[in-house]
Amino acid sequence: MKIEQNYSLEKQNTFHLPVMARWFMEYETEEELQRILRDEYFQECSSLHIGGGSNLLFLNDYNGIIVHSLIKGMEVVEETTDQVILRVGAGELWDDVVAFAAAKEWGGIENLSHIPGEAGAAALQNIGAYGAEIKDVIQTVEAYNQLTFEKRIFTNEECQYSYRYSFFKNEQNDPYIITYITIRLTKNHHVFHTDYGLLNQALEGQRLSPAAIRDAVIRIRQSKLPDPEQLGNAGSFFMNPIISPEKYQQLKNEYPDMPSYPAADGRVKVSAGWLIEQCGFKGQSHGAVAVYEKQALVLVNLGGATGDEIALVAESIRDTVFSRFGVELIPEVRYIG
Ligand SMILES: Cc1cc2nc3c(=O)[nH]c(=O)nc-3n(C[C@H](O)[C@H](O)[C@H](O)COP(=O)(O)OP(=O)(O)OC[C@H]3O[C@@H](n4cnc5c(N)ncnc54)[C@H](O)[C@@H]3O)c2cc1C
Repeated sequence: MKIEQNYSLEKQNTFHLPVMARWFMEYETEEELQRILRDEYFQECSSLHIGGGSNLLFLNDYNGIIVHSLIKGMEVVEETTDQVILRVGAGELWDDVVAFAAAKEWGGIENLSHIPGEAGAAALQNIGAYGAEIKDVIQTVEAYNQLTFEKRIFTNEECQYSYRYSFFKNEQNDPYIITYITIRLTKNHHVFHTDYGLLNQALEGQRLSPAAIRDAVIRIRQSKLPDPEQLGNAGSFFMNPIISPEKYQQLKNEYPDMPSYPAADGRVKVSAGWLIEQCGFKGQSHGAVAVYEKQALVLVNLGGATGDEIALVAESIRDTVFSRFGVELIPEVRYIG
């Protein structure tokens, strides 16, 4: 187990904000995690479990304990002629899992290629891209209750998944730390989702396979999204708003070319990026913070920005979109501090 005091989180968040943590703890096994959870000092301090820090905005130094999992491993725990169940350590890089599956020609997660972060966070966030979400393949999530220290294995249903939401994100529930996830992948009879965005176009003339789709998704993402290693960012800063059919109709009458997608219960998901672009923010910079020139939904740190400065730009985008469209943007990024 690694324990460090006054630890720089600059490499632990993809905005690359140079904030400090009072303590940083990294564990490799469930036993080590249990020791941390049962520690009296740990229980007294505020703590935050992070993954790759690709969905976090630190507003200040963190005056508590940052915890990180190094639980690795990908193990086939069940296999039939049609499917495999893969158990993955929460500290595995999510994209390594996708690469592993694609190389084996196992289907189900290829659309979720090239999403930064770790497997545990992926399950908590219900990551999604190109018409797929991780909830479609999650079989179970193994997690420790931070208050009772008990391990619980959640079924897919118990995770209560919806758009970028799960049981684990609900602050009314006990806090849980995810240690393993199991995902169900297809070995044949794959069902591919290629009718989203530019994916169909990128795959034209190719035989569909998990690996081909993964390659196409990576190409598209590299052409549209900034690489956090070069330009600090946390991907989409806001969620796509889901609005009532009445509100949608009102906006559609006024803006016939507004992109939209059907959501649950007859509601409609509209593109946050489009709303922001219409307000003229795309490509603008405000000090060291910019709205990415190729994707208005992404805020980038041009170098030297603080969390507060990023939050201020986000606030101004929210206010402007609300006064123009009457639609509230909700951050997808989690503010810390
Ligand atoms: C360039 C870029 C592109 C992106 N594209 C997408 C995309 O297409 N689709 C998408 O959905 N997201 C996308 N994201 C957002 C981000 O990658 C995902 O939200 C990702 O799942 C976050 O993983 P992480 O390991 O970095 O988690 P972190 O950002 O470190 O944490 C996210 C949340 O998970 C919690 N957490 C982390 N690990 C655990 C654990 N083991 N147990 C309990 N809680 C835990 C944290 O407390 C926090 O609440 C993108 C981000 C970037 C930078």
